[in-house]
Amino acid sequence: MNIVIFGPPGAGKGTQSLRLVKEFNLSQLSTGDLLRDEVNKKTNFGNQIEEIMKTGGLVSDDIINNLIEKKISDPQFKNKIIFDGFPRNLDQAKKLDILLEKYDQKMSLAINLKVDNEILTKRITGRVICSVCNKTFNIFFNPPKSCEIKECSKRKLNQRSDDNEETIVKRLKTYDEKTFPVLDYYLKKGIIKNVDGMQEISAISDQLFTVIRALRS
Ligand SMILES: [Zn+2]
Repeated sequence: MNIVIFGPPGAGKGTQSLRLVKEFNLSQLSTGDLLRDEVNKKTNFGNQIEEIMKTGGLVSDDIINNLIEKKISDPQFKNKIIFDGFPRNLDQAKKLDILLEKYDQKMSLAINLKVDNEILTKRITGRVICSVCNKTFNIFFNPPKSCEIKECSKRKLNQRSDDNEETIVKRLKTYDEKTFPVLDYYLKKGIIKNVDGMQEISAISDQLFTVIRALRS
């Protein structure tokens, strides 16, 4: 079955996709990987993409669609794709359905990892890192204790520069605005499953496994 997974930045979407790939023998499709793979193949098409990326240009929707079609049309991936980070907007979602249909497939499940924005913000803005051993703490959820290493007694607890509230709030807002119409599209098709993304990583995976097994049987 083909699956698409959605989740805001910091929700652990990448981790969960990898677990699904392993558990159900799926192939992950992220547009970034597709572009990099094509560049590494050194084909004419790949060289063309490399040129665009080098000059900082945006790779066109046509190129992306072309790469996605290559993957969908490949018999070894038939009904085995997990889409991660694509489609990003309604137009892409509609085009993807047309492509899937062309190769006698469909999207069977759209997973929506739900995490409360306030918690997500705290996960990211509360993150502090030991300047000596790089151990990570969170002032809200995992308050800094002393590190076990003696050298760390002189540590500083640093924050990453892009882990500030303004940046996070902006990223989450952009995500919500862009993703809402896509989620609504899959909701109307009746294939959305909301999954609580605020539990332990393995508890989230268990929930996902259960949802997928139920659909497969
Ligand atoms: Zn340390």
